Amino acid sequence: MKHIPYAHQSVNEEDISAVIEVLRSDWLTQGPAIGKFESAVAGYCDAEYALATCNATSALHLACLAVGLGPGDVLWTSPNTFVASASCAIMCGASVDFVDIDPETFNISVDALEEKLEENRKSGEKLPKIVMPVHFAGLPCDMDSIKQLSDEYGFKIIEDASHAIGSEYNNHKTGSCYYSDITVFSFHPAKIITTGEGGMALTNNRNFHDRMLLLRTHGITRNENEMTGTSHGPWYYEQLALGYNYRLSDIHAVLGTSQMNRIDDYIVQRRNVVNTYNAGLIDLPIKLPSQYENAESSHHLYVVRLKTGVADISRMEFITRLHNNGIMVNVHYIPVYKQPIYRQLGFPDDYCPTAEDYYQEAVSLPIFPDLSREMQDYVIDSIKKVLI
Ligand SMILES: *Cc1c(COP(=O)(O)O)cnc(C)c1O
Repeated sequence: MKHIPYAHQSVNEEDISAVIEVLRSDWLTQGPAIGKFESAVAGYCDAEYALATCNATSALHLACLAVGLGPGDVLWTSPNTFVASASCAIMCGASVDFVDIDPETFNISVDALEEKLEENRKSGEKLPKIVMPVHFAGLPCDMDSIKQLSDEYGFKIIEDASHAIGSEYNNHKTGSCYYSDITVFSFHPAKIITTGEGGMALTNNRNFHDRMLLLRTHGITRNENEMTGTSHGPWYYEQLALGYNYRLSDIHAVLGTSQMNRIDDYIVQRRNVVNTYNAGLIDLPIKLPSQYENAESSHHLYVVRLKTGVADISRMEFITRLHNNGIMVNVHYIPVYKQPIYRQLGFPDDYCPTAEDYYQEAVSLPIFPDLSREMQDYVIDSIKKVLI
């Protein structure tokens, strides 16, 4: 039987040779492959600094720490995201709040954000120290408006761009940090490029970069200028802060650099998949994903909404029947506040109504660069059989 996952990495012989070369070298970690990968991504995105990490979750944690998020502070994010966008705040001892999504883009709603900011200012409730927009499915958020609100309300912006390397907004590549303080990418195999596990934090701010660099390696420095005492000798280092081991290995990094050679091809292949779905799925009781002017998605996910009032079958039945055909559709995302750890904090189960409606109807169809036309036609035909 066919088995078509909703996402899949694209690894070729060049990637494999590059990894083997590192395995034969002197450096499996803390070697030259890290800086090369960081330069490749920073150059591609036109950002000043890039810092590779062992995954995006650790990069989000470092980003929050660099901005100074701590106990008593609040981070606001979208409920339509993976749990890590919120966990990073809790990891800093801060709290999290959620702003409902836009019904068209499924990204954070700028209107809801503005309203919540205004209300909190009027009532004297806490304003966020960080707002974390998530470019859901690879479609950039309305960064211009979010930046304007940050100028007015004084919060920092950390972009969770785990889905969105290769996307563009107003002709700025996501990761350029043109509208934000720090941007984070994920290189999990389901994402646009992969290192197996891996992440990266990009910024144009030297201080944020230096802080993240220190905390990526235990808070330890070997730079005499940063030390509080005098060096005991060439072996000497000082731990200046509580840091972590959030490094990426050279084995992972070289895979990332090799993948960066094909990122633009991946985006084109994904766009072709999107165009084929858009043409093949019209006239069915499903709502296709929307695009908007000034934003070019990286097309990490292709999410349709089953019009549950119009279609003859439930979303559960739709998914089950596709699974029975080997088409492993998925659902992104369970609104984060529904998770038990947030319910225990007092978030009601229906906290964000638009995210709730969306969650009832969303289905992620298979999309990845190597999805063949034949496979895709099979997916489209199967969906038609299920719905007509
Ligand atoms: C994948 C993902 C993460 C976490 O990435 P890891 O590299 O697995 O830590 C965070 N946020 C979003 C939106 C993601 O999709």
